Amino acid sequence: MNICPKSRLLSQANLFRKIRLLLPSSRTFTALWAVGVLLLLAATSRIGLLRADGFPAADFQVFSASCFGPEEAAGADQPASGRLECRSDFENGSGVVERIDPEGGLIRLRPTEHKDRGWTCWWFVHVTGIQPGQLIRLEVTGGLGDWGKPDRASFSLDGKTWQHTPPGQRLKDRIVYQQKIDGPEAYFAWGPPFRLSDAERLLTEAATKRPWVQKFELCRSREGRSVPALRIAEPGPPEPERFGVWIIARQHAWESGSSWVAWGLIDWLLSEEPAAQQLRKKATLNLVPIMDVDNVCRGAGGKEQKPQDHNRDWSERPHWPEVHAVQSAIRQWDDQGRMDLFLDLHNPGPIDREPFFFIPPEEVLREPARQNLARFLEAAKAEITQPMRLADKPRTAGAKYDPRWERMSKSWVILHCRPHVVALCLETPWNTPHSTLDGYMAVGRALGRTIARYFQQNPRPGP
Ligand SMILES: [Zn+2]
Repeated sequence: MNICPKSRLLSQANLFRKIRLLLPSSRTFTALWAVGVLLLLAATSRIGLLRADGFPAADFQVFSASCFGPEEAAGADQPASGRLECRSDFENGSGVVERIDPEGGLIRLRPTEHKDRGWTCWWFVHVTGIQPGQLIRLEVTGGLGDWGKPDRASFSLDGKTWQHTPPGQRLKDRIVYQQKIDGPEAYFAWGPPFRLSDAERLLTEAATKRPWVQKFELCRSREGRSVPALRIAEPGPPEPERFGVWIIARQHAWESGSSWVAWGLIDWLLSEEPAAQQLRKKATLNLVPIMDVDNVCRGAGGKEQKPQDHNRDWSERPHWPEVHAVQSAIRQWDDQGRMDLFLDLHNPGPIDREPFFFIPPEEVLREPARQNLARFLEAAKAEITQPMRLADKPRTAGAKYDPRWERMSKSWVILHCRPHVVALCLETPWNTPHSTLDGYMAVGRALGRTIARYFQQNPRPGP
């Protein structure tokens, strides 16, 4: 079904003309068919207005090969099978097609713009009607400069296993990726997608396998979606003696790699590796793989969205329920002396090629957090080595970095928790040959080993 609003009007007009040709022209019948057509228009409008996941269809488009521009493309209702077609009308999908040339296997697209929903840099499309063995030329244009144009695109034949294309060719305002596709369809994306449905499935599977893993609902998003989270705590010492850890990812919806880092960490925590077994017996770990679920489902960027993005929302009165829920849980734990470590997972800028930590400014760190932080960074340096090596130095996120630094997650945690609590943000690069699902998960596992190494010593001050 074509769901572009313009094409909906076109097809409704055509329908109107066709129905009129079929009907007698008497006044009675004219009145009857007018009422009928109005009802039909209302019904088709409603069908066209919302997608299955509740988003306005106007945000999404489908184009087929017979069309050489958005307007013409929008007129094609039912593309015949076997024609090159590109769509983004699904969960986390994004991309407006500007041109399709079936002969040359060319698809030109730009990331879908979502007003007030943050940077326009995420794209994720489904291409069908490919002649198996055909070379697809994907041109990505528009969006927020290089932020939406990684050196390599990600592609998948089944929507599950993702690989990199060879490096694309950068032209003035676009990048061109070329990939031979051995099948009738393929997905292309900015990076390996991690959708809300992936989080639901993976967390459910994890909780089913082990009695000490609990999947829970962090909160409901502003748009009413359930925000899934995981608690990992194998029986060991009683709760007040256990170390308390909160790890969140994807405060910025386009940073899909950070969710895969979170999943790599979870996968490691559930593994048989002795360090993982020891850690989950002495710590209670809460993990949220996607904070901004609404923009992830929508396929929007999230960063710098209105009124402020999730990572500028850590105030006394947060706008986003996810931020409020994590704040409340951390406050409660800290009151009970159970909070020890907070980590916020992100993806950085296009020129960053090594993982690095953002740390709170020196002047707000107290003892023993200062020493604890140095110890954590040392542990990270020893563990985060393959395939991505941790940068030599962390970066500071204070007033010089952003005047709103106090409203960022790790600053809020440092300013509101006991003086031994450590809070950092890990940035994992998305624009390297290792920025794949495997590469991200390897960073997540290394982060798990870092946490285990860190808790070999008690970070809490003595009695
Ligand atoms: Zn971010």
